[in-house]
Amino acid sequence: MTNRFRKALVIGAGIAGPIAAILLRRIGIEAQVFEAWPHSTGIGGGLQIAPNGMHVLADAGLASDLMRRGSICESIDFYAQSGARLGSVNRDMARRFGQPSLSMRRAVLNEAIIEKAWSSHVELFFEKRLARIEDRPDQPIVAHFTDGSSAEGDFLIGADGVHSAVRDHVVPDAPKPFDTGLLGFGGFLPRSLLEAAGAGPNLAMTFGRSGFFGYGYCGPEPRHGAMCWSTQPTHDRDAAAFRAMDQAALRQHLRRFHAGWHDPIPQMIDALEEIVVTATLDVATLSTWSRGRTLLIGDAAHATSPHAGQGASIALEDAYRLVCALRDQPDTGIAFQNFESERRPRAEQIVALARRNGNQKREFSASGAWIRDRMIKVMMPFTARSWDWIYGYDPRKVTAQPGTSFQRDRQAA
Ligand SMILES: Cc1cc2nc3c(=O)[nH]c(=O)nc-3n(C[C@H](O)[C@H](O)[C@H](O)COP(=O)(O)OP(=O)(O)OC[C@H]3O[C@@H](n4cnc5c(N)ncnc54)[C@H](O)[C@@H]3O)c2cc1C
Repeated sequence: MTNRFRKALVIGAGIAGPIAAILLRRIGIEAQVFEAWPHSTGIGGGLQIAPNGMHVLADAGLASDLMRRGSICESIDFYAQSGARLGSVNRDMARRFGQPSLSMRRAVLNEAIIEKAWSSHVELFFEKRLARIEDRPDQPIVAHFTDGSSAEGDFLIGADGVHSAVRDHVVPDAPKPFDTGLLGFGGFLPRSLLEAAGAGPNLAMTFGRSGFFGYGYCGPEPRHGAMCWSTQPTHDRDAAAFRAMDQAALRQHLRRFHAGWHDPIPQMIDALEEIVVTATLDVATLSTWSRGRTLLIGDAAHATSPHAGQGASIALEDAYRLVCALRDQPDTGIAFQNFESERRPRAEQIVALARRNGNQKREFSASGAWIRDRMIKVMMPFTARSWDWIYGYDPRKVTAQPGTSFQRDRQAA
């Protein structure tokens, strides 16, 4: 591995890829980003970026614009199916962690990131689906695309998400994404419905005997400024079977599944403009995140089920910390190892937490659900504080030691 790394090939223009490219440009590394799909706007559901991810968006110059286009979430409030309040977490995040938690449409986030990449002179190529990687000694690394074209660089970053093709190059017998047995149904609806129900700037999350329902504001637009999602055990139908159903049948399914749940859940189901179905995927731990001059970041390295609301935030952390590792260590291979040894423990802890949270959304007996709800209520004050290590992490305040050991310092209180 040589000291000269001047051009990065970045596969995937989701969240981690273009942010890494923007930050690489700042340290003088040219970055080309290749995305499998055509450039489009308006795609995807809603998501939340936590303070730990917001620090990176702020560093990239995106936070204030996104705060205008999203909705700051001032707490997460938990309820039982009946509507009984169980407690709140994540209060006062901006004061405690230096950034708020922000709910927004995924499309808003992606559009802002892509615009920023363009204005930062990152070269973006759409409809370039990676087919294979060629990494020969003393030659540039080559990305070959399914349209027959190719690109050469000094190293390659796989930011191509849960179904990563780069992962197959890094770990030839890599575990495949598996279905966790939970399905997601989500969409957007008018803000007026939540305003009429007296909802504050919070996310509300309701645990049922079977499944889960979450909702809140996600932006200022009257028509699409609120979002909701239902998580359910898969039972006899998978995501593909639900996607084959029309919107009326999906709505009917949601009405039946959430019949008797507290207001405004039934009204929200009726008001959903378009219901999108997602499988909840997970990937077992990889034996390594890098091979030669190729490194995985974000979901490609540590795909996480969405139940900790952290996948995008830790993908952003990765992008930031990778650029620090490359800045501090001229040898790409050592920089990649340093990056992995720093990032792996944190990422794996968050992935494990998301798995445990997902288990709270499965099928419970009536008494099991009652006990779970009591436990949530009693444990809430401790739960609230036990997540501070996630939100209080500021990737800009981590110092890398020479070699492979990294140390956190000056963490936000
Ligand atoms: C329903 C749902 C809700 C979620 N909610 C949240 C939330 O509230 N908060 C949160 O933090 N996280 C959430 N997540 C997780 C979050 O979306 C991911 O963790 C995050 O998008 C990972 O970012 P990434 O850049 O690693 O990958 P991605 O955002 O998935 O981007 C990967 C990109 O690579 C492209 N690509 C794939 N293969 C190729 C190829 N062969 N060649 C070229 N390009 C390729 C893809 O098209 C995509 O654009 C949620 C996930 C789901 C499914």
